[in-house]
Amino acid sequence: MKEEPNQDLLSVDRIRQMIDLYNPCTDDYLFVLDFENDFYYISPHAQERFLLPGCYFHNVSDTLLEVTCEEDRQALTDDLTDILSTDRNTHNLVYRWLGLDGQPIWINCRGRVVRGEDKRALYMIGCINEIGKKQKADNVSGLLGETSLQTWLQGYKDEAPAGYFMRLGLDNFKSINAKLGVEYGDMILRKMGDFIISCVQCGQHLYRIVADEFMIVDFNGGTVKEATDLYTEIRRMLDRFVEENHYEAFVTVSGGILRCEDVRNFSWSQIMKLSEFALTEAKQLGKNRSYVFVQEDYDRFLKKKKLTQVLRQAVASDFEGFEVYYQPIFHSKDGSLSGAEALMRFHMEDEMVMPGEFISILEETGLIIPAGRWILHEALRFAKKMQQVIPTFRVNVNVSYVQVMKSDVVVDIMEALKQYDMSPDHLIIELTESGLIESDIYFTRLWTQLKENGVKLALDDFGTGYSNFHYLNELRPDIIKIDRSFTMRAMTNEYEFNLLSLLNGMVKSLELKVCVEGVETAEERDKIAVLPPDYSQGFYFGRPCPQADFERKFVK
Ligand code: C2E
Ligand code: CA
Ligand code: CA
Repeated sequence: MKEEPNQDLLSVDRIRQMIDLYNPCTDDYLFVLDFENDFYYISPHAQERFLLPGCYFHNVSDTLLEVTCEEDRQALTDDLTDILSTDRNTHNLVYRWLGLDGQPIWINCRGRVVRGEDKRALYMIGCINEIGKKQKADNVSGLLGETSLQTWLQGYKDEAPAGYFMRLGLDNFKSINAKLGVEYGDMILRKMGDFIISCVQCGQHLYRIVADEFMIVDFNGGTVKEATDLYTEIRRMLDRFVEENHYEAFVTVSGGILRCEDVRNFSWSQIMKLSEFALTEAKQLGKNRSYVFVQEDYDRFLKKKKLTQVLRQAVASDFEGFEVYYQPIFHSKDGSLSGAEALMRFHMEDEMVMPGEFISILEETGLIIPAGRWILHEALRFAKKMQQVIPTFRVNVNVSYVQVMKSDVVVDIMEALKQYDMSPDHLIIELTESGLIESDIYFTRLWTQLKENGVKLALDDFGTGYSNFHYLNELRPDIIKIDRSFTMRAMTNEYEFNLLSLLNGMVKSLELKVCVEGVETAEERDKIAVLPPDYSQGFYFGRPCPQADFERKFVK
């Protein structure tokens, strides 16, 4: 668009003054680029955001290129050159500047060029907006957004008022969008906003933060009980809505409640982090419910997070920190050593972490696959050595259902046996029933393949949860390991003892073997001896210990 040269020019100095005057009124950045004097002036608060030498500078094009992301420099140069070599008067460019941390920030820079009588470009005035910036208000729900909440909370920086934050999140919102469309999803968000507004009281504030989450802020001294009641009220409204809509969309809501006093320094990042944790807990506890923040839970969560990191590093650095403990297993008949169960241990900062704490993390992260392979090799190497003294020595290795479902564990096992030149019937693979249902076909396939290859199989944790006697006949494990909890019950309860005794007899008639775990005292040993099982394992006979201790105590 061609424009007439401007008649009443403002001086660049005057523009600078105006920019300063506007500075407190906007988050955008106003600027003037003086082509004549090769000078640039921008709203002073730009220095707090971008990698600029200051709010004014000379040598404009080089300096601007320095603050521009490398990929966008050419586009900027081309645009400025074009303005200077043609009579175009508008500049409108979307590109990236570098923030103070060196990270790119998307901006839209729009400017208007003012030319002198001879059409030479004198200066350009304009405005820069950050287009990647979070919304201050949300047009879908009609509520204020995260940035507004942040700004408002800045007023409370150091003194925490009494009250609470409640972060509400719709459960499975993504699937509603996917199944019923984004417009339907938007309608649900609007409804949700309306429900909350109709439940909150005067003085409580409501914001919509990320996509499907809302934050209610109560600085009126509201208690946890009041927060929970408020949650229930909102949930009821939502339930009613779902019912009235004949379950077209089955939406539920979870809520994380955070007392103001739980936020140290009352900082924004803490409020967001802890409230997010509270909401995630509510969801993990089964959704459609609320959870009140407890510091101990959060500490446990942080510990788990740290442990996860450390475990990942340990696996990557050749299993440094991992160790294998061995627990002896004895023949009940004559008390001779049959073999040992390999049990994983992990050392973190001079502290030993027990499997109860880390096996589930290894499973969740898939790290159990390399770690399971590692312990298999360690155990076979150990058994090979033991066989020099006790040729019948067998080693038991636990295999997780994650290894069964997500790795080629049969190949791993057969290769390892070959590598250590070990007969397959000297290896006992322990599998639990609990993983069995979930991984049915994988489990059956693995089971059959191992049996075909002559590897021995033990059904672990028998007597916990849903022990299914049908499986015994179907799977025909070589050994059934009676879980410690079953053993303990049998020691104190006659009915349970009779059950154990019957089971022992039945298993024997199927020509399977029984190993009783968790024998802790001489009395227990005597009681068990009445059965007797084929094998016994427990603290009374020997605790799990490092390989060297095992050799010293049980072999030499
Ligand atoms: P599990 O396979 O049932 O192992 C037996 C657990 O009972 C071991 O705990 C052992 O130390 C403990 N125990 C043995 N005798 C007694 C006793 O008389 N009294 C008491 N109170 N406890 C006894 P640990 O080593 O803490 O292992 C716990 C679980 O972690 C194991 O239960 C197993 O499910 C899992 N686990 C351990 N190592 C591995 C591994 O290498 N791979 C996999 N997938 N799981 C493992
Ligand atoms: Ca076991
Ligand atoms: Ca067991």
